[in-house]
Amino acid sequence: MVSDPSLSREYNNFPLLDFLPCAPSGPVPEFVYNFLKGHRTPDDNGRAVLAPYALRKLESALLAKNRREDVVVAHEHFASSFIKDDTEIIGVYTMDPLGLGPLTMSYSILFGDQSKAWVRIEFERLLKKLDQARKGKKAKIVVGGPGVWELTVMPEMMDELGIDLAFQGEADDIINEVLEDISSNAIYDKGYFQGYQSFDEGFHKQWVKHDRFITRMRNSKQFPTLDDIPLIQGPTVKALSEVMRGCGIGCDFCEVTLRPIRYYTPEMVKHEVEVNAKFGRNSAWLHSDEIFAYQHGPHFVPNRDAIMDLFRATMSVKGIEYTNPTHGRISIPAGFPDLVKDISSVVRAGPERWIGVQVGLETGSDRLALEHMPNKTLPLKIGPDGSWQQIVAEGVKGMNLAYWRPAFTVQVGQMDETPDDNWETVAMVNRLSNMDVGDSPSEFTVTPMQNVPLGLIKSRTFTAELLDESQLAVYYACYRHLAKMIKRDAVRDSKGNLAKRTAMSMTLNLGGWGLLHFIEGMCKKRGLDLEKVKRYGLD
Ligand code: SF4
Repeated sequence: MVSDPSLSREYNNFPLLDFLPCAPSGPVPEFVYNFLKGHRTPDDNGRAVLAPYALRKLESALLAKNRREDVVVAHEHFASSFIKDDTEIIGVYTMDPLGLGPLTMSYSILFGDQSKAWVRIEFERLLKKLDQARKGKKAKIVVGGPGVWELTVMPEMMDELGIDLAFQGEADDIINEVLEDISSNAIYDKGYFQGYQSFDEGFHKQWVKHDRFITRMRNSKQFPTLDDIPLIQGPTVKALSEVMRGCGIGCDFCEVTLRPIRYYTPEMVKHEVEVNAKFGRNSAWLHSDEIFAYQHGPHFVPNRDAIMDLFRATMSVKGIEYTNPTHGRISIPAGFPDLVKDISSVVRAGPERWIGVQVGLETGSDRLALEHMPNKTLPLKIGPDGSWQQIVAEGVKGMNLAYWRPAFTVQVGQMDETPDDNWETVAMVNRLSNMDVGDSPSEFTVTPMQNVPLGLIKSRTFTAELLDESQLAVYYACYRHLAKMIKRDAVRDSKGNLAKRTAMSMTLNLGGWGLLHFIEGMCKKRGLDLEKVKRYGLD
């Protein structure tokens, strides 16, 4: 098994740099990309020392039924050397193989699709190497992971890259059977759905037949239970450990909410954190799609005891000095700021150690928030507890006072979106950007994500002309704030010795400045009133 190389690096552990591979290769030349993504050396045998969490899960599942020497998680540069005459399967894990994810698309549209995104370049390079190395051998190339949907949009790329099959769905409990069935050509007789699951423009699930895809069958067990999920045995990239799957909040654009909810126990989490700590990691990154929903109560009231137990268990692991969650919703720090402060005291957050967490705000518009994500504010409610923007502002205060710095995302091109909704998003970004929390300016980043209809993706005609004035204004407001944050925080947040920190902060400042000026130029060309964008919502 091997991972798409964009998922196997730690990007110098600089906040938001994990998004770097979404950038197009034209404006981000290879030497800059390589410097920012960081190095990763393999072990003496060419195996990955750190691997993406999902690969570690599959490795554990395979080890339950196979010998250690027959299961390899390879470093991407050495994967070819593991392909022998008797190799049956080469498994590739990927998240955004063709660069069709929302952030990658936002850059493709901004810059026009004249240069491929780094995610796509990395994936294609890897697949071409693997395909070359297996020539004349029986090994089959099988791709899995959350990025498989992109191959369903461009299945012709499977031939070009030598991919035999793509597997869709969680596979922790059935990976041994799936791989055996593929290698013995019995996969089509074993009750899997021969095709893929997709969503139409109204986000209704569809089943599409296709002989190059395999999906867990709709009428049989579609997901592993908690008991079926093995614990990792090797260290993970970014010391990531999962704490739950599924979410349940029910936003109408989100596939995660359709999965059953499975909560890991604190003991399970502790065990996985120990695996990373034994490898020498001093931090743990707790993954969920919504940490505040962990074991939640009625109306999504956070379960303080369960959440605190989870963080305490993590911090009790010998060698762990700090911990942060990957994702959380903003209404909890707004309505329960003491909970966030209590977590901070357990995980030792402070002025020198901020907690980074991704938060999906999606919009500044009450109307769109109520239409697409009415539960995301629970247990608060838009109306009785203020507008969505007021809840967000309270949430930023609650987070910043506890030394949490949210990395927000907002969507552009949502279903039923109007220009007024986008201007509300501009107003929200400006208000938050100019807000003080205590004696300090607010701390957050905000990144626009582009929703592109499938028809347009297939036509591959990406250009900023697709954005109307209000959408362009959202981009400008977000990247204007980002440039401000980089200028303020890049030196502080860079890691390594003085020379490396200086080089990192200079590169990032230049990148932030360049991106802002590029968008500014585009806005001027389109006649967008930049002063209006800068002031919108503030007067
Ligand atoms: S809260 Fe986040 S993970 Fe949960 S349904 Fe909404 S968007 Fe999806």
